[in-house]
Amino acid sequence: MSQYSIGNIEILKVAESVGPTSPKFLFETASYQDIEKHHDWLKPHFVDQTGKLIMSIHSYIIKTRHHTIIVDTCIGNDKQGRHYPPWNNLQGPYLQDLAKAGVPPESVDFVFCTHLHVDHVGWNTRLQNGRWVPTFPNAKYLFNKVEYEHWEKSMEPAEKAVFDDSVLPIMQAKRAQLVAADYQIDDGLVLESTPGHTPGHCSLDISSNGQMGVITGDMFHHPVQIAEHAYSSTFDVNKPLAIKTRRKFCEKYTDRDVRILGTHFAPPSAGRIVEKNGQWRLKV
Ligand SMILES: [Zn+2]
Repeated sequence: MSQYSIGNIEILKVAESVGPTSPKFLFETASYQDIEKHHDWLKPHFVDQTGKLIMSIHSYIIKTRHHTIIVDTCIGNDKQGRHYPPWNNLQGPYLQDLAKAGVPPESVDFVFCTHLHVDHVGWNTRLQNGRWVPTFPNAKYLFNKVEYEHWEKSMEPAEKAVFDDSVLPIMQAKRAQLVAADYQIDDGLVLESTPGHTPGHCSLDISSNGQMGVITGDMFHHPVQIAEHAYSSTFDVNKPLAIKTRRKFCEKYTDRDVRILGTHFAPPSAGRIVEKNGQWRLKV
């Protein structure tokens, strides 16, 4: 578990998994050699000794004065039909780890999914007596309306499996609220529209007591994309728009005292965007 604070807002990070992956798994167009020119700032946190990219799948838990909010819910246990077979039937200790971090499921007031991909909605539900039920029984689940309507129509089997076991049961349990891309969750917590990776993708802006941060979601999968906007992930639905969104975001936040919290960035998972030698990078 890692801990951050932005003004009076406390943020915890609970990881479901952290490990290396090849550049090709993530980016169609990037090779080990392409990544190498950024090793001076990517190592040791974001690239390992062999040149592989280190990736994390985690949730951020935000504690404001009033509420506990969980942002993105990883892959989940007992799921089936995933496009990446190792994600089927996981039996991980995520819920125990959340409880150890002082976040039992019933204490969560809001769940916000930056988008509705497989590794961001999994723990929305858990299997109970053969049925998918909301994991966080007292929470209101917030989905961007555009995002929800996009995936609701998908007939691709793996996408439909994700929607049917991790999103639809929330709707059926009447725990979901479809929100606009500029929705304010709480004092100092406002969505920021960052489309491209998916149509209704949203990041989350955090501000408190003069300090600011942003949880990126999958606008970036890896810090190397801060320098290389054109490295679109294999999973970006609209690649040109994803590139444009990354560029716009970096233009807005470079050399500002804004903490960037990556949704797949390996520990320490957070830093500031700075410009060095005419190029943007993440400074931890
Ligand atoms: Zn993701």
